Amino acid sequence: MTRDRAPAKAADKPLSAPQKALHKLGLLRDIDLALHLPLRYEDETRITRLADAREGDTAQIEAEVTACEVAYRPRRQLLVTVNDGSDSCVLRFFNFYPSQQKALAVGTKIRARGELSGGFLGWTMVHPHCKAASGALPTALTPVYPTVAGLPQPYLRKAVLSGLTRAELSDTLPTEVAAQLKLRPLWTLKQALEFLHHPTPDVMLAQLEDRTHPAWQRLKVEELLAQQLSQLQSRREREHLRAPVLVPVRPELVEGPFDRAQPERMLPLHERLLAALPFQLTGAQRRVSEEIARDLAQHQPMHRLLQGDVGSGKTVVAALAATVCMDAGWQCALMAPTEILAYQHFRKLVGWLEPLGVRVAWLTGSQKKKERTEMLGLIERGEAGLVVGTHAVIQEQVQFKNLALAIIDEQHRFGVAQRLALRSKTNGEDLEPHMLMMTATPIPRTLAMSYYADLDVSTIDELPPGRSPIVTKVVSEQRRDEVIQRIRGQLEQGRQVYWVCPLIEESEMLDLTNATETHAELSAALPGVMVGLLHSRMPVAEKKAVMSLFTSGSMGVLVSTTVIEVGVDVPNATLMVIEHAERFGLSQLHQLRGRVGRGAAASACVLLYSTGDAPRLGETARERLKAMAETSDGFEIARRDLDIRGPGEFLGARQSGAALLRFADLAEDSQLLAWAREAAPVMLDRHPDLAERHVMRWLGSRTNYLKA
Ligand code: ADP
Ligand code: MG
Repeated sequence: MTRDRAPAKAADKPLSAPQKALHKLGLLRDIDLALHLPLRYEDETRITRLADAREGDTAQIEAEVTACEVAYRPRRQLLVTVNDGSDSCVLRFFNFYPSQQKALAVGTKIRARGELSGGFLGWTMVHPHCKAASGALPTALTPVYPTVAGLPQPYLRKAVLSGLTRAELSDTLPTEVAAQLKLRPLWTLKQALEFLHHPTPDVMLAQLEDRTHPAWQRLKVEELLAQQLSQLQSRREREHLRAPVLVPVRPELVEGPFDRAQPERMLPLHERLLAALPFQLTGAQRRVSEEIARDLAQHQPMHRLLQGDVGSGKTVVAALAATVCMDAGWQCALMAPTEILAYQHFRKLVGWLEPLGVRVAWLTGSQKKKERTEMLGLIERGEAGLVVGTHAVIQEQVQFKNLALAIIDEQHRFGVAQRLALRSKTNGEDLEPHMLMMTATPIPRTLAMSYYADLDVSTIDELPPGRSPIVTKVVSEQRRDEVIQRIRGQLEQGRQVYWVCPLIEESEMLDLTNATETHAELSAALPGVMVGLLHSRMPVAEKKAVMSLFTSGSMGVLVSTTVIEVGVDVPNATLMVIEHAERFGLSQLHQLRGRVGRGAAASACVLLYSTGDAPRLGETARERLKAMAETSDGFEIARRDLDIRGPGEFLGARQSGAALLRFADLAEDSQLLAWAREAAPVMLDRHPDLAERHVMRWLGSRTNYLKA
């Protein structure tokens, strides 16, 4: 197996900011860098003469600075006049450094690239990219890579280029497998990568943009194959594994969740829970519960993804699965990515199950020693049939008597190591627990089935009845007062309100300041109302206290950073305001919005946007918010999210372990997916070495995750 060299790294030298950012993007090996493809390109190969330019063109001009001055009206700005011999153009900068001003001194020859607008006063460019006009023009298009704060484009370009030069790029597609592909011409991986990083200017940009170019096709083929291979590998591994067969046994034979003193408590928990629920299951909930129960009755470990939109009622499905497990005399664990979310589950499950005589244990990292010891005892002796918590549940010290089912909420936030650790918890005998993963970030069912070669998929495609749809409004920050007025209205009707402040990734402190200020502002504007604050830096006990005040209804408004993103369930909350909505991703907005509209009362979501210094909201941001106002279907939103953001922005998701594709599009590339599905077993059987190399190249250390 060939492994690419990791970039040189001195053992004790701290990483520089851009190096850290590279790590954050998962760009560790040469091959990772080589596979980091441009989002778009800039054409710096040509110079446009101003006299030949057209209004609205994005063009590069080469011209001499004839004037450079700071103007104060209508606001402070740097105005630089340049002339290229055919005409002149004014470059306008609203934010600028003294150093920039110096670099644009009269007489300097520069290249400026930007969008040209015309008008009475002649050509202008707002915030063009400028550099000194020295050296020959590049011969290839300039790549623009997806990046994060702290990682400047030029640094990233250099890193990618050196990764590309060093990476081992020999082909891994066996001829007989490639022959089945209907793509002609089929480029090699090396050709494709070299081209995509530095395409020649004569290329059809449209082909690059819509990814139909043969170079793109080749990458999609590679990626889909890697994904299918690794999942097929893990499916095959799983076929040899054994799990406890979870079928109901007579209660009198089971220790644990039954109360022998009360005969009516001797019925299976499953039936008693169904009877005790304050609502009827939806058809979809019933169907997926049956799918799960059928899996649990098998020898092979279940590996099922339960997907359902926010509010579709996944928790009760999880509870029912847990009862199936306990009815068979085994223990179940439910884990969530954050303590807040885990605690919500805990409260809900205790509410449903303790009246039926089930002991539910609670485990988190922040717990007091005494409580923890007590819980560990309950778990080890099997007195707790169900354990709820954060990943603390799978720490080494936690000994289960007999764990048979692990339920993981919002699996994409769960790391590799945690998933692997679960395996050690059953109870010897080479048994594996069954696994149920729940997610509210769905992909369409038919696609999910072919994409997740190693995952069975259950989809809840129906919301519980009696929900009134959430009305979503996109509102400018300038109308903040009206929004606060609206909050008053809701509070007067006895309703509750969420106000969400954005997470500012680069600075947790800023993020906090923002939330604290909003909290103060709302407290002042809403006298007599309890306004709470929840943010990620607060001690857990305080978080819990705030949450329970809100859950119980005493708190009218909850100001929070995105800690409430997943899972919080307060049906009396009917209004959600999301500040700086333009900074959120679509799926994230959808998750947040799903916190309201959980009861029968009409609910609304206000997406407050701010344009900052800019006169209007950018194109992408506008599309994003518009999409939110137009649809409340999570599947549709997931699709649009992909359309709008492009796969580049899925990098963050890739880091957190979501098995999403970067290059291929499941809907558009279904033929390639079909090919990859057929090619994978052939390759694994007849060319195992190539298969291994292929998977390592594409997924590297992620393969552990996929196998988990
Ligand atoms: P999610 O799928 O987002 O995790 P939850 O499990 O939190 O959704 O359920 C959302 C709300 O809907 C909860 O208050 C839950 O009790 C309620 N609920 C779940 N199933 C039903 C149903 N069949 N009928 C009515 N309400 C339901
Ligand atoms: Mg949930």
